[in-house]
Amino acid sequence: MAGTQNQPWLFDTPAGEQPAEEWCIAEVVFLRSAGGPFDYLVPPGLAHEPLVGCRVRVPLGRSNRLAVGFCIALRREQSLERRLKELVGCLDEKPLIPPSLLQLGRWIAEYYLLDWAEVLEALIPAPVRRTFHRKVPIRLEVATSVLEAIMAGEKIPGLTDKQWGVLTELAKSGPLQAAQLARRCRCSLSPIESLRRRGLIQGVPHRGLPAPVVGPTADVSIPTLNTEQDSALARIGKIIDQKQHKVVLIHGVTGSGKTELYIRCIEKVIQQGRQAIVLVPEISLTPQLTDRFRARFARVAILHSHLTDREREHYWREIAEGGVAVVIGARSAVFAPVPRLGIIVIDEEHEWSFKQETNPRYHAREVAIARGELEKIPVLLGSATPSLESWYRAQKGVYDLVTLSSRVLQRTLPPVALVDLREPRALASTRGAITQPLHQAIHQALEDGGQVILLLNRRGFATHIQCPGCGFVLKCSFCDIALRYHRAESFALCHYCNYRRDLPESCPQCSAAGIRYLGIGTQRLEDELRRRFPHAKLLRMDADAMQARNAYEQALAAFHRGDVQILLGTQMIAKGLDFPNVTLVGVISADTAIHLPDFRAAERTFQLLTQVAGRAGRGPKGGRVLIQTFDPNHPAVQAAAGHAYRPFAETELKAREEFGYPPFGCMARVLVRGVRLELAQSLAEALQGVIRQELAALGTNSPCRILGPAPCPLLKIRRHFRIQMQLIAKEHAILRRLISRARAVPVPEGAHWIHDIDPVDML
Ligand code: ADP
Ligand code: ZN
Repeated sequence: MAGTQNQPWLFDTPAGEQPAEEWCIAEVVFLRSAGGPFDYLVPPGLAHEPLVGCRVRVPLGRSNRLAVGFCIALRREQSLERRLKELVGCLDEKPLIPPSLLQLGRWIAEYYLLDWAEVLEALIPAPVRRTFHRKVPIRLEVATSVLEAIMAGEKIPGLTDKQWGVLTELAKSGPLQAAQLARRCRCSLSPIESLRRRGLIQGVPHRGLPAPVVGPTADVSIPTLNTEQDSALARIGKIIDQKQHKVVLIHGVTGSGKTELYIRCIEKVIQQGRQAIVLVPEISLTPQLTDRFRARFARVAILHSHLTDREREHYWREIAEGGVAVVIGARSAVFAPVPRLGIIVIDEEHEWSFKQETNPRYHAREVAIARGELEKIPVLLGSATPSLESWYRAQKGVYDLVTLSSRVLQRTLPPVALVDLREPRALASTRGAITQPLHQAIHQALEDGGQVILLLNRRGFATHIQCPGCGFVLKCSFCDIALRYHRAESFALCHYCNYRRDLPESCPQCSAAGIRYLGIGTQRLEDELRRRFPHAKLLRMDADAMQARNAYEQALAAFHRGDVQILLGTQMIAKGLDFPNVTLVGVISADTAIHLPDFRAAERTFQLLTQVAGRAGRGPKGGRVLIQTFDPNHPAVQAAAGHAYRPFAETELKAREEFGYPPFGCMARVLVRGVRLELAQSLAEALQGVIRQELAALGTNSPCRILGPAPCPLLKIRRHFRIQMQLIAKEHAILRRLISRARAVPVPEGAHWIHDIDPVDML
């Protein structure tokens, strides 16, 4: 192993002293020390322990202090040329991490170029890690047969009075910890110990929480699958039966019954005695989906982000023990220690939230596919707007493609009309954000008893705060970003670092009075709607309005009951909602993300518009969509208006191919941060130098394009200046090689860099 070569203090045990003909070597990694895996010799006394996946005690460093590590693999060697230290002990009777997950960990460490300490962070949730050194409290209870005897009035022979007193006290009280029992009986621990030795009382681990699993909660009507769903189920069912690995991309238009299809596939897997993982973009934003799973399956564990540490730990252990049939969660649920995994489903596979943007940086979709490959199980990716990466692989035949081309129950996709904001007429009739055609449409929908969803993907009241006199724009003190005006809370807020300040009474630069609040956010839209439709019940849904724990569920429930006629909000309202009475969806501005300096800007815009449009017309009343835009001819807007995924994907892929962007090339981003701009710049240049050198050494067979170093579109965030480089190569291996070389570059104080394989955030 690479790590052992530069660790001379590991060569402690004289190799010749070992009695075995074959050496058993444990590969060990650590939660707190970087590097590894490190090799240790397994002494004969530990040869029969399970070891792999268990915590082991080993000597570490020159001082040989004892440390706890994880054994991630065992291997045998015929001859041992170097001296290795020995394992001292094994802490677990059963592996904590299933071997398949350890293999996955190895894949992650290699693919994302991560240290094992970081990988373990992903594999074992923090609350579980924290309990490692803590013992599960043991409670004592009276053995059942003894309890029966006591109840029958029998006396147990050979007990002292003290012991008898303790025994009857415990029989009365029910399970107690030893110390509690001793306190109650005013005795030492020794009579308790003697009773325990005689088997009259016994210890049981106490985790103190009820079983986390729930469901099924309701009687539900189970729809009869339509022909498309039926043949999709048949195809996927075959893969499930053959216990094969295969990635299936389910491209199903909004409302085509994808969720029902997932459920049927999972039923099949459960019938075979296996389990499922379902990944969703954000658990708190998908209550409808989780409700449906709860209604249809027993033993569902829903991994909310607001679980307490104890709950999280409890779930994890319950899952590891095989007590859970279906695990539903956001990206980290891909690491659920499910023992007999039969399928992984990723709903809305195109969503960005599957990418973790802090260390360890990984994409749950790619990790799921790697896990599927290791465990030889199918992975289902579902979306109405598949990521171009997945679509391309399906076109190439790497993934199976299953298409659900129409909505269930012969419902049609809603017609989409564009409102051209450049037209003088549209503007003239508008004081605010809502044009005349949109006003009319809302009015009509309300008149007909329908409900309305309005999307504006900008929270706050105004998007910038500006002095009309000198043009000064109020910016964040820590980021190079204009502060947003939040009127409801009456402050200016940075949407990147949450810095907030009071509103200036006059211009901080020229002292002129009359500062202006420009641009429209959801709060201002809400105001305008109140003025325009004073009798309609409104509900604003954005990160500010939905801070309370169950706010989102309550809001959706109100909308579901019909207590609310107009639901307005950010992209939070664009996805997954299935409300049959929504007859109108309006998009205030299609252009919020279209011109971002990101090669996926068009794809994102298309996805958002298509998803929000998909909320309309899900019931017998039908529905329609109005999109306001300054750029009606933009291909993403046009495609969304025509529900034209395939043509959009084809055009967009052509453009990507021209520049070698993913999925045609592999990308890595090197992001350098510095407290001063020059610091970041000089580190970025040093990194670039080493990377170019290595590239030259690799020769012309391993081409890689290097874009930058250049300032990031968001130059300064949280006091740090940001410089980036993009590396685009044909193969990942090249990127990894270049980045690992760059790690040799000394990093000056005040600067810092990270790498991001398959980056999603380009700002
Ligand atoms: P998607 O996930 O593709 O948007 P859903 O699975 O949420 O679609 O289905 C939309 C609605 O249609 C749900 O209320 C679901 O219960 C219902 N549904 C699904 N399949 C059928 C079917 N074959 N017949 C009737 N209703 C169905
Ligand atoms: Zn800021």
